[in-house]
Amino acid sequence: MILGGTGDARKLAERLSARTDLRVTLSLAGRTKMPLPQAGETRVGGFGGVEGLADYLRTERVDLLVDATHPFAGRISANAFAAVQATGTPLIALDRPAWTKVGGDKWIEVDSVSAAADALGDEPRTVFLTIGRQELAPFARQPQHRFMVRSVDPAEVELPNAVTILDRGPFNAVAEETLMRAHGVDVLVTKNSGGDATYGKIIAARRLGLPVIMVKRPAPSGADTVRSIAKVEDWIDRHVAAFAERGA
Ligand code: NAP
Repeated sequence: MILGGTGDARKLAERLSARTDLRVTLSLAGRTKMPLPQAGETRVGGFGGVEGLADYLRTERVDLLVDATHPFAGRISANAFAAVQATGTPLIALDRPAWTKVGGDKWIEVDSVSAAADALGDEPRTVFLTIGRQELAPFARQPQHRFMVRSVDPAEVELPNAVTILDRGPFNAVAEETLMRAHGVDVLVTKNSGGDATYGKIIAARRLGLPVIMVKRPAPSGADTVRSIAKVEDWIDRHVAAFAERGA
């Protein structure tokens, strides 16, 4: 089973579903109203915490678990790590490397979305908010700013003084620069998600000389981690070979 909700999880599920020696289930939280179509089996919705996930692993006889969730989805990753301690299911995490600052980047690194809101300061600014739609509440404390909020689905609670752009990545740097110029963006707020699909905004901010308030990643879950889909496949192959040897 692949714990998903990311482009990498989709790609991995697509690759693995093409194999005849595996039965693959992609698990989604159910946050996105219209998830992109997916090859293979999909299940949707929470498991009910660590116990629920452990029960699911046992009941569905999951042999291998891949945590390919977003680096900021800390709870499900911690739950997966705890659940496999109880069930003994082999677990691997797929985690793209975090972005690192390069020459010309003006990053202000903060520990949380709430700290990002505080870092905006008192001076009214036009803020490009690209942290998704679920953690907007802290920005309501900063009504002096204009917000441009980009998310896949509309936010349930809208910020005052905000325009919403509904869109799904990947986003390239040229289009991001055009968008940021057109809206007169003064500052970008983002999570350090890593990967190429949304790196265009970081390049665009660098080219425009804009500050970026960068939310640092939460602590990793403790699971063994690899950086690429190919490495996950190697790990699966090793386990499949070991299962075959044991006649499992
Ligand atoms: P979270 O805080 O780590 O998880 C909250 C709860 O949602 C979990 O305890 C679990 O419920 C359920 N859940 C999360 N991912 C699940 C999955 N793949 N399959 C089944 N249940 C799942 O996660 P989140 O930050 O709300 O993110 C939700 C989903 O969106 C994740 O799958 C993640 O990959 C994706 N995503 C998150 C972000 C982000 O910035 N956080 C960005 C892009 C995509 P139970 O305890 O009931 O099992």
